Amino acid sequence: MAGQFDLAGKRVWVAGHRGMVGGAIVRRLAGENCEVLTAGREELDLTDQRAVLDWMRQTRPQAVFLAAARVGGIMANASFPVDFLRDNLLIETAIFTGAQDVGVEKLLFLGSSCIYPKFSDQPIREEALLTGELEPTNQWYAIAKIAGIKLAQAYRQQYGCDYISAMPTNLYGPGDNFDLNASHVLPALIRKVHLAKQTGGAVEVWGTGTPRREFLYVDDCADACVHLMQGYSGDSHINVGSGEDISILDLTRLVMDVLDYAGGEVVTDPTKPDGTPRKLMDNRRLRDLGWSPKVDLREGVARSYQAFLAGDGRNAG
Ligand code: GDP
Repeated sequence: MAGQFDLAGKRVWVAGHRGMVGGAIVRRLAGENCEVLTAGREELDLTDQRAVLDWMRQTRPQAVFLAAARVGGIMANASFPVDFLRDNLLIETAIFTGAQDVGVEKLLFLGSSCIYPKFSDQPIREEALLTGELEPTNQWYAIAKIAGIKLAQAYRQQYGCDYISAMPTNLYGPGDNFDLNASHVLPALIRKVHLAKQTGGAVEVWGTGTPRREFLYVDDCADACVHLMQGYSGDSHINVGSGEDISILDLTRLVMDVLDYAGGEVVTDPTKPDGTPRKLMDNRRLRDLGWSPKVDLREGVARSYQAFLAGDGRNAG
């Protein structure tokens, strides 16, 4: 299936380029000899279907990476359910509608591993979608992302559009959100360990520290997305993961080690939610398509810390 879709010379819209994944896709596309289109938030409201359609009719993208979404960690999801469900549905509807209208040749929709049932067999295969109850803490976001997968399939079926979906695991890296109230666990730990190191204090871990999560460096994810855009065309979404998971406590220790605070104390806060107990995706399909990750967790954390120190990301530095 390799070499089906050539990006060279194409107008390629990265929707959500200010986000962590979109930013990494833009970086990755610099090597592809294509024209990258972007639209800033002040220029285009992605939840406004009319505005998106007008913008797409003007710019006429031939390929789209749909990396735009309202995203956030476990507490943000619990606090703003309407924003996570409604905004993401609106963004998806607007961009899919526009893509079909202007005849986009290929679209890659980016979802998330939280689309899978809370108690899925591990590692989670693509077939596990819609086989059980979702994790309630992020169900709003998950339902919107499942709708996106179904939109891609529906457009394939009804209009023969070559729209595909990729489901990345927990991503981290430059451009991350380091705001402790809204961030995911890895950027939060980088910030917390950085602060604890300065004061000599303890590192506070939400929940019990026993849940396990899989992490992928964001530039690896971008590379996988380009690989899929170029070489995959099919109904099923494709998992994008590193294939390895780690407990939150071990992750905390790893971050402390990388940030040179290995001797510090760790305390857990069981009043905060644990979320789903384990979330490791089966990445065999992606591997069978000829892709594997390049940046391991220790290296990725070191690079993320440098990005944090350089002020690269929300609330970084
Ligand atoms: P999830 O993968 O959707 O559950 O989202 P998160 O990345 O926000 O959380 C992953 C796990 O890390 C959960 O078990 C959290 O309770 C735990 N965790 C520990 N400390 C923190 C923290 O400071 N921030 C966040 N967001 N999660 C934390």
